[in-house]
Amino acid sequence: MMIELTSEVREALLAQAELAHPRECCGIMLGHGNRIAEIVATDNVHPAPETHFEIDPQALVDCHRAARGGGPEILGYYHSHPNGLARPSATDMSMAAPDGSIWAIIAAGRVSFWRIGDAGFEALPYETCGR
Ligand SMILES: [Zn+2]
Repeated sequence: MMIELTSEVREALLAQAELAHPRECCGIMLGHGNRIAEIVATDNVHPAPETHFEIDPQALVDCHRAARGGGPEILGYYHSHPNGLARPSATDMSMAAPDGSIWAIIAAGRVSFWRIGDAGFEALPYETCGR
């Protein structure tokens, strides 16, 4: 599965990671199908935000409500790795629910996309396209 996103969304992900550094940024990715149309930055409410993330639960509730009301679907979640690890960490693997959601990880100035399959996280290719 090829992920599609606008260069605007990609830039926004990189900017969020930079802004939150040395903490992990996190947020929700919205869109339709395999196309990420927008991101919603949320507070990282984890007590150890330098090494972990937890999306603000109220933001999740709001996004689910908006989706039910005809807004974009929640396609997945993003967070950054201030230590530069450009793949899911052991913590991510233990936390991730195999619910088919897309994970984006921002590390070392790059964005990578992942999804949990039978054998753990699989890398998803992506392309940026116009609006
Ligand atoms: Zn992580």
